[in-house]
Amino acid sequence: MVSIDEAQRLIRERVTLLGVEEIDVLRDAAAGRVLAEDVYGVEPLPDAPKAAVDGYALRSADGSAPRRVIAEVTAGATPGLRVEPGTAVRIMTGAPIPDGADAVIAVEYTDERDSVLIVQRTLRAGDNIHTVGQDIAVGQLVLARGTTLGAAEIGLLATVGRARVMVYRRPVVAVLATGDEVYEPDGEVFPGGVRDSNRYALMAAVREAGGLALSLGIARDDVNVQRAAILAALDQADVLLTSGGVSMGTRDLIKPLLAELGTVHFGRIAFKPGKPTTFATIERPASVRSAPLLAFGLPGYPVSSLVSFEVFVRPALRRLQGDAHPERPYVRVTLCEPIRPSADRPEYQRAVVSWENGRLMARSTGRQGSSRLLSMLGANALLIVPAGMTPYAAGAELDALMTGHLAPPGASSGSSSAQPS
Ligand code: AMP
Ligand code: MG
Repeated sequence: MVSIDEAQRLIRERVTLLGVEEIDVLRDAAAGRVLAEDVYGVEPLPDAPKAAVDGYALRSADGSAPRRVIAEVTAGATPGLRVEPGTAVRIMTGAPIPDGADAVIAVEYTDERDSVLIVQRTLRAGDNIHTVGQDIAVGQLVLARGTTLGAAEIGLLATVGRARVMVYRRPVVAVLATGDEVYEPDGEVFPGGVRDSNRYALMAAVREAGGLALSLGIARDDVNVQRAAILAALDQADVLLTSGGVSMGTRDLIKPLLAELGTVHFGRIAFKPGKPTTFATIERPASVRSAPLLAFGLPGYPVSSLVSFEVFVRPALRRLQGDAHPERPYVRVTLCEPIRPSADRPEYQRAVVSWENGRLMARSTGRQGSSRLLSMLGANALLIVPAGMTPYAAGAELDALMTGHLAPPGASSGSSSAQPS
């Protein structure tokens, strides 16, 4: 049995960066992709001094004296005129500053009649002028390799004219459900059967983490069927996630299969929920993919499989695609209510964290059973509860892994049946 830290290290050491590909930022789905190159400014922005407001370009040395308005310049125009002493030019936001002018007065502080401009304020040189390179300088690092593209980043790439950039390939993640009792959720379920929630929940989690989810369906608890499914992943995927079949039962076949096909790095973690989580690598011919398949045997209980994904798989998926910040943030939270620890293993309890009176406050999502998927509902954090016998009282502080956005103050689980554990 390995510790959580040890398990995370064993995974981290076996994650290698995926290759890169070029995308068209303007046409492809660029959001969520991770940059594989540094992007620099190659032109100054703005490229010429420009008006920052609608108003009049003038000479500050003329003080409060009235000016004669000699022309109008709009954005996109090339002025080709000169502001002499005693004159001004009507100018629009984004228009280039004409020669001779050294300031722009906002139209709100002016009065223009019969082409005579009265100014209600005096200006200093440079007022309301965007200088060359003020927003982006030539040679400035605009976006660093490892940056995840979001709205601002895509806007910046468009700004600097980088319609095509190199990003890391997204990991192809094959997801296999196992179990004789497991059925497709939209079909008939025989008595004693359960609907396959894990494969669909895990595929959604894979996509959220930037991966391409590939369903391998449901494999019966038959060693040949499961072997064939793992070999299919070896042909097509960077990562394999299996659900179920990693515990101590006679129909738990995944661990021996991974050992037969590759190298198992750990098969048990001192961790709750998800003790049987298994990690293996499987070598393959370089013609298929250069790196070995990273195989995660996740537990069958729905909560265990998702929490194990969050703690062990997600950071690996982010690392594979070059994310400079693959880990979610850890924060210190104050308990709103008592929490009972697990006696023998550190436990990641599902919690709702909100900002209240200057502190991050955590509430439990209720009963923490591994089969109770409702305990994930509304959770935006995993509360890291060290093993022990003594409950933590309300007001105690613990570390938590933030898995979502902060909840509004007082928010608790979205489940109406939530009860304190
Ligand atoms: P196992 O680890 O295979 O013994 O499974 C543990 C528990 O998780 C059993 O109660 C299974 O019925 C349940 N389970 C296994 N696979 C799934 C799945 N894909 N979706 C929902 N529950 C599952
Ligand atoms: Mg099973």
